[in-house]
Parts: sequence; C-alpha cells; structure tokens
Amino acid sequence: MNRSHSIPLVDLRAQYLDLKDGIDKAINECIAEGNFIKGKQVTEFENAFSGYLGAKHCIGCGNGTDALELILKSLNIGPGDEVIVPALTWIATAEAVNNVGAEPVFVDIDQNNYTIDVRKIEEKINKKTRAIIAVHLYGSPADMDEITAIAQRSGLFVIEDCAQAHGAEYSGKKIGTIGIAAAFSFFPSKNLGAFGDAGAVVTNDQELANKVRMISNHGQLQTRHHHAVVGRNSRLDSIQASVLNVKLPYLDKWNTNRITASKQYMSRLQGNGSIILPASEIGKKHVFHLFVIRIKNRKKIMEALSNSNISSGIHYPAPLPFLEAYNYKKHKRDDFPVSVNTSKEILSLPIYPEITESQIDFICDQLLK
Ligand SMILES: *Cc1c(COP(=O)(O)O)cnc(C)c1O
Repeated sequence: MNRSHSIPLVDLRAQYLDLKDGIDKAINECIAEGNFIKGKQVTEFENAFSGYLGAKHCIGCGNGTDALELILKSLNIGPGDEVIVPALTWIATAEAVNNVGAEPVFVDIDQNNYTIDVRKIEEKINKKTRAIIAVHLYGSPADMDEITAIAQRSGLFVIEDCAQAHGAEYSGKKIGTIGIAAAFSFFPSKNLGAFGDAGAVVTNDQELANKVRMISNHGQLQTRHHHAVVGRNSRLDSIQASVLNVKLPYLDKWNTNRITASKQYMSRLQGNGSIILPASEIGKKHVFHLFVIRIKNRKKIMEALSNSNISSGIHYPAPLPFLEAYNYKKHKRDDFPVSVNTSKEILSLPIYPEITESQIDFICDQLLK
C-alpha cells in the first residue's frame, strides 16, 4: 500500500521525524550517561510536567494503569472498598480498582459528552464507596464541578484518569489538578507519548505524593535499603523521560492542531442529519485525543472508508460491564442503556497533530458519500 495515499488513525512516525534530531540526541545522551533508572532526566520531566499543569507534585511511573493503582493504594483503598467508574472507558480504569483488591462499580455515561453521567452516581454510593474515578474520555473533561460536589457530600476521593486528556482544561484549570490525584499515561499514541510504556501520578497533596513515590520504588524512603512498607516496582525509565522532555514543549501546539482539525471536521460534517458530532461545551477545553462521531450504519461506513485507505476505529465496542472479565457482575443491558447504545454507534476518525487539511477534506468527502 502506498503510504502517502493512506490515512492512519494516528501517525507516530510523522511526529518523530519532526523532532528526530532532538530526540535522538536526548536518547544518546541518556545511553552515554548510563543512568537508566532514576536518572536526572526523570526529575527534570517530573518538574517540567508538574510546572506545565500547575500542580505541586509529579511522580513518574511505569504506565497509566500503574499510576491509577498507585493512587488507589496510597489512599488505602483495597479489599472491601468500592470505587465508582464510568461504564464506557478503557479497561485500565476499572482494572486498577480490581488489582488493589477493591470493586469497581459502573455508572452509565452522559449521552452528550460520553463522560460519567453525574445524575446517576449517587444511587451507586453506599457505605463501602471510597472514591469516584473521573475519566476525561477522548480528551473531553468530565463534569468536575458536579463530581466534586457529590464526592464532598459523601466524603469520597475524586481521582482523575487523564490518560486521554493531557492539556485539557476545565473552568480555566488544567485537568489533573482538580481531584485528590490524577493518573497520566504516556503510551506512545496518547497526546503526549513516550517510546514505550510510561506514566505519572500528579497531585497537590504532599503526603500522598510521598506515599506514591515510596510504593512505586519498593517501599523505600529516601534512604537506600530502608523499606518502610511493602511496595512494588513501577518507575519511569530515564530514556522514556528524555523523550518526554523533548516532546513536552510541543504539547500545546499539538493540542491546538488537534482542535483545528476537529473544527474542520465539524464544519464539513455539521448539518448532516445522520452524523452526531462531538459536543462543544462551555468552560471545557477538549483536546481531541480522539475525534468520535456517532453514526447508525457504522459497519458499512467503516468498510467504505477502509476501501479508500482511511483507517477508523471504535473506542470502545463494548462497555466494560459486558466484557468477559466482568461477567461475574451479571449486569444487564438495561443497567447501562446510554453506554450500550453509544458503543454501537461511535466511530473514531483519524486525528493527530500532523493531519493535513486536504486529508480531512478527503475523509469528509468519502464519509459524506
Ligand atoms: C491509555 C489509558 C489508560 C492506561 O494507560 P497505560 O499507560 O496504557 O497503562 C488508562 N485509562 C485510559 C482512559 C486510557 O486511555
């Protein structure tokens, strides 16, 4: 297949080629120094990323799923506890809850913005509930004011899953600074991506930050060979941090490019009765990790796009309660009507900072046919 005539869902190569010199140099320096674990690149990134977000602490870790797990563990959430999560998200959000021994409790999503439906949270809260994980799905901030108010009324923690929303904003604040702590993923295809698995915990809480850092490094405090608690190993590698250090200064520009691309999609596709476009919500900066439309005859459309060498995807084809892993919960379709209907119609179109106007035009031409 001729690469120049096919449009991928994301194009990681384009971004690398733009920054090749800086990235190659940073990786080579890291190799020459030989401090592959806990090298100075890691501290440099942690400081730069917390500075970018306006948060007090950033702790690098192995990946975004670990970041969620480290937060839950550090908040002493475990066996006997329940944590509220949206029914439509990447499985990692719920998996982290199971993996600390707690139980995820699913809540349906909002028809309009696809994040957790704040009107359906309180009916799921009981004495075991400890936290709500707000997922800023597709780059679109969840309804944080309402979530925060509900959590305060019931004495719950709000944890933000920011894996798809680096740089997104809610009421002028960067997401990741609103809840008690936030999990970021730097999986290669995220808005800020490393060259492998990588993640971070962000928080304004000093005590929580210390705990996360300790647990992620075998329970060690500053002193070597002093293990205060049984921890685990989940650290950000120096090489990954060196890649992220080169990329972070471009994050805002890349997000702007994503927003520009989304506007072009919107203006070309609006007014078409059979396509539902992403919501534009006041007070939220959506950073379009994914550009997701809704459409009835999805299978046919995907085939037609594919015949024109245009990739598309489904995020996600099944709500979490209906994955085999969660069969044990014995949920019915009626428990999550919006998630069920939405998952049948959503379609992710190609979006990445380097996508061109003519590529989007071509995609829209094919789609409208
Ligand atoms: C990618 C992602 C994660 C997990 O990140 P990894 O780094 O892949 O572990 C968690 N939540 C959401 C919503 C994600 O998209």
